[in-house]
Amino acid sequence: MGNVLLTGDRPSGQLHLGHYVGSLKNRVELQETGKYRCFVLIADVQALTDNFKDPQKVRANVLEVALDYLAVGIDPARTTVCIQSLMPALSELTVYYLNLVTLARLQRNPTVKSEIRDKSFGAGVPAGFMVYPISQAADITFCKADTVPVGEDQLPMIEQAREIVRDFNRIYGDVLVEPEPLVATDEKSRRLPGITGNDTKMSKSLNNGIYLADDSDTLRAKIRQMYTDPGHLKVSDPGKVEGNTVFTYLDVFAEDAGHVAGLKEHYERGGLGDVKVKEYLFEVLDALLAPIRERRAEYAKDPGAVLAVLKEGTGLANEVAAETLKEVRKAMHIDYFG
Ligand code: ATP
Ligand code: MG
Repeated sequence: MGNVLLTGDRPSGQLHLGHYVGSLKNRVELQETGKYRCFVLIADVQALTDNFKDPQKVRANVLEVALDYLAVGIDPARTTVCIQSLMPALSELTVYYLNLVTLARLQRNPTVKSEIRDKSFGAGVPAGFMVYPISQAADITFCKADTVPVGEDQLPMIEQAREIVRDFNRIYGDVLVEPEPLVATDEKSRRLPGITGNDTKMSKSLNNGIYLADDSDTLRAKIRQMYTDPGHLKVSDPGKVEGNTVFTYLDVFAEDAGHVAGLKEHYERGGLGDVKVKEYLFEVLDALLAPIRERRAEYAKDPGAVLAVLKEGTGLANEVAAETLKEVRKAMHIDYFG
């Protein structure tokens, strides 16, 4: 099949700037090269693992995420966009892969560990959540993807998928393809922090995001709240750039690195207020988001057309998945009727 790219997002909210720099940008660039068969999966089954009591939220966000895709330039003529829950082959692959992974291995997965910490599960962690790395391996392998653009938080997931592929191929025969993660070239883009500070990644579930759909006023208000240097009280005080989220964002988003370097120097010396730096960040981000916002609003006028894109993509993806499943069943000697 040549190079195959697959990636996905959980419809647990709209897409944010972290998605944009961590993965969406890479996807669109690779789509444009024409060298990849591209798949993008809206992972609603995975979103339900920690939102199972709120199916309406997941359902509503399937459309929101699809709108975000179209707005950033994912082109349904060149990228197959599909919905996880409407692909039964994924559930079947998950069940087979479950045997290839120990509980201890899942419990050691750093992403699983940190997400359990971040999402307050109350009475306990649902079994479905614990095994989501395995269902993610099913997602990646249904189309034999070799390239998976992801943010840094997902690297342990890809590693787990690679182990599953290696074990499957060793035990049953060479059917699956080992995926490679593709992270952003710029290190700070791989794990964009939320507006509340550099320690936590921007995340749909943590209420610390700037969304691609945010209007100018919302954007300005969020930037105003952004974490800077708590010790920088008066404009004349010297300020810290390290750990200052506004500067982290400028490093990621501002094209004029020289200007940012000048601002940093002035800030550290004292005499440059947060308000000024934040206003510059607003200009930078608003210029990036305005065209995305406009395209999004256009697509949002016709939700029926967006659903049609998803329906067609899911149909195509199911055809590809059926081929892989046939090979998997044969290799596992469960192709009883041929
Ligand atoms: P949730 O909080 O519901 O898990 P999320 O914000 O983590 O949502 P996902 O749908 O889990 O978003 O992630 C989709 C993709 O975006 C993954 O490849 C992930 O690594 C990447 N990504 C998510 N957040 C960031 C971030 N802050 N910086 C860079 N990449 C990110
Ligand atoms: Mg996540």
